[in-house]
Amino acid sequence: MKITRISIHQVDLPLKEGSYSWSTQSFAAFDSTVVIIETDEGITGVGESCPLGPSYLAAYAEGLRTGIAKIAPDLLGQDPTALDKINHRMDQLLKGHPYVKSAVDMACWDILGKATGRPVHALLGGKFQDRVKLFKVISRDDPAVMVERLGEYQALGFDQFQMKVGEDPDRDITRFQKVAAAMAPGEVMDADANTGWRQHDAVRIVDAVKGLAAEHQIPIYIEQPCLTYEECLAVRQHCSLPMILDECMDSLAVLLRGYQDRAMDLINLKINRMGGLTRARQVRDLCQSLGIVMTIEDSWGGEIATAAIAHLAQSTPKDFHFQSSAFHDYHTVAIAEGGPIVEQGTMRSNDQPGLGVTPIMDVLGDPVAVIG
Ligand code: MG
Repeated sequence: MKITRISIHQVDLPLKEGSYSWSTQSFAAFDSTVVIIETDEGITGVGESCPLGPSYLAAYAEGLRTGIAKIAPDLLGQDPTALDKINHRMDQLLKGHPYVKSAVDMACWDILGKATGRPVHALLGGKFQDRVKLFKVISRDDPAVMVERLGEYQALGFDQFQMKVGEDPDRDITRFQKVAAAMAPGEVMDADANTGWRQHDAVRIVDAVKGLAAEHQIPIYIEQPCLTYEECLAVRQHCSLPMILDECMDSLAVLLRGYQDRAMDLINLKINRMGGLTRARQVRDLCQSLGIVMTIEDSWGGEIATAAIAHLAQSTPKDFHFQSSAFHDYHTVAIAEGGPIVEQGTMRSNDQPGLGVTPIMDVLGDPVAVIG
């Protein structure tokens, strides 16, 4: 099988709640990129990559599309089902920029699934979970608004919440106190600072909130308190709450360093930060060998990226999977049919071959670039 054409689409994903805010950032919509890969056997694959704005990671939407257009001519004629060869070729063509390669890799997995008649989760090792646990993000806002939102999400059946903090330290402590008090015993709070705290503030905050876990009988996790690995490690050494590392976990090397340093209890594995499903699977499998539990998601995306999340998470044993996110559930527009089914705080893929999604071309519109 050979790649004959690569089309790049741009699409905006507006947020149902009007905005999505974390640390010091806030957006009304996210700019996503969809790649459609055609082959000489008539099988078409679709992939998606969506940076969370231009300053969440070293990734931005326009760069993503430029990067794909840069490598695409050299991918024509390649076999999309030879995933390792495709990734090797992309690394030869472009150093770094994993978020660029992720959309292409994802589309190739979709093609492999359709060519073999199997859902991607079957190709990633087999389905361990019929449905995977979701968390709902409580966007950073006034503490009272966050408590209100918590109630709405509890009513939808969610019991794990990622509370966005990472702004003013004292307001953040209030957010912990108010939201924890409104949670039911046994519900899970993952407080994600998204690198927003300075080390001294983070040490003070984790000390101030640690008693809330016992007081309200809720597990409280601290996620990526500061920007650098070293700062997070220092906070970890002062923190009795379990620690999740996310933004700084961007390579196998840093994962192994974190394992050796006991810098974290869990990691947040994001597909496009690793360069796609092929590389995310490597990290997923290594984490299991090392005993590290994972949140499995992507930086953002619509139905297509979320389907990839569902397939990767469903092919991960439950005891190594902490939570995932159903990003398409946050938007006012759908970009594909067949996105994961969300029910009672869980999601599942539709078990169709490949990723199981069909792009809605009226929503995607004309491609911004066609190669081939
Ligand atoms: Mg995070």
